[in-house]
Amino acid sequence: MAEEDFYSVLGVSKNATAQEIKKAYRKLALKYHPDHNPGDKSAEEKFKKVSEAYEVLSNDEKRAKYDQFGHAAFAQGGAAYSQGGFGGFQDPFDVFREVFGGGGGGGAAFYDFFGGGGGGGYDEPERGSDIRAEIEVSLEEAANGTSRTIRYNRMVVCSECGGSGSKDGSGGRKTCSKCKGSGQVRMAQGPIRFTQPCPDCGGTGTVIENPCPKCGGTGRTKERNEIKIDIPAGVYTGSRLRKAGAGNAGYNGGGYGDLYVVIYVSPNPKFERDGNDLYTDIKIKFTLAALGGQVEIETLTGKAVLKIPAGTQPNSALRMRGLGMPNLRGGAKGDLYVRVNVEVPQKLTDEQRKKLEEFAILCGDDKISPKQQSEPFYKKFF
Ligand SMILES: [Zn+2]
Ligand SMILES: [Zn+2]
Repeated sequence: MAEEDFYSVLGVSKNATAQEIKKAYRKLALKYHPDHNPGDKSAEEKFKKVSEAYEVLSNDEKRAKYDQFGHAAFAQGGAAYSQGGFGGFQDPFDVFREVFGGGGGGGAAFYDFFGGGGGGGYDEPERGSDIRAEIEVSLEEAANGTSRTIRYNRMVVCSECGGSGSKDGSGGRKTCSKCKGSGQVRMAQGPIRFTQPCPDCGGTGTVIENPCPKCGGTGRTKERNEIKIDIPAGVYTGSRLRKAGAGNAGYNGGGYGDLYVVIYVSPNPKFERDGNDLYTDIKIKFTLAALGGQVEIETLTGKAVLKIPAGTQPNSALRMRGLGMPNLRGGAKGDLYVRVNVEVPQKLTDEQRKKLEEFAILCGDDKISPKQQSEPFYKKFF
């Protein structure tokens, strides 16, 4: 099995600087740390891979050997191995602790996974997060297309400071007084002491010198957004519509995330949907089924005339081409299948009965009952 290249594991170029390699490791190690992905085996595997890649690429000597020999350098008996340079990889958690400086007394380690501590650093552009919204539409709306106006909260670039977070627009930063620039603080929780990314500066070691009063130095503010969503004909439950740039603002000019609208099509009492085809039920008299004719039926787009061929059988489905749902990606529409339920009369007048008996005799049906016995039993008492 081919091993993935260490540089691509970390997502850096072959001539990445030591700083870039460390930055990439910090970002990925936080993302895949098992504490952050409980029970996720693939994340655990990635966490290990990222650690191995970092271990090799962060060490000048090992990196040089890797550049020369590739993965073979670190296989047992490989060039670097035999030269006494290497004997397997370190425990990925040790690597993590070395880089993040966690794990104080008692072996407890706390990491701020979400606060951006130890992330990319304050000057790195970071794209804003996406927002997901759900819209419920009726089957008619899904067939014809519709639109909705939705309102939601999102983070936008601060209008006061233009996202710099600084009051005078200089973006000037000073050493964080809480952690004195280390980006980490030591905390005690009962008998356990541990280090943690500094809450004041988010682990970057610096804070905005003169913070913007509107956003408090974060560069972003909350806003109520209103947006019109056009829902095309043919959507189905689970269809995703994207509004580029309608998500949250990023950091440091990293751009906005997107808004994803997920469609839910509510069930319809009259029509069942299967892909782009629709199914509906009608009842017709047995005479119509036998003789043939036509009926008016309701479709999603109005009334239509359905031809009933002579000799239509109960529970058969008649197809009405092109009267199903439109195709979201264009092309032919689906079909409407009309399931035919044949009704047998529960009461007959004397005349109807007489004619029907004649018809039965014409058909050679000798199993019909004489009239007297077919009268309801209770009638005899009145
Ligand atoms: Zn601001
Ligand atoms: Zn700090």
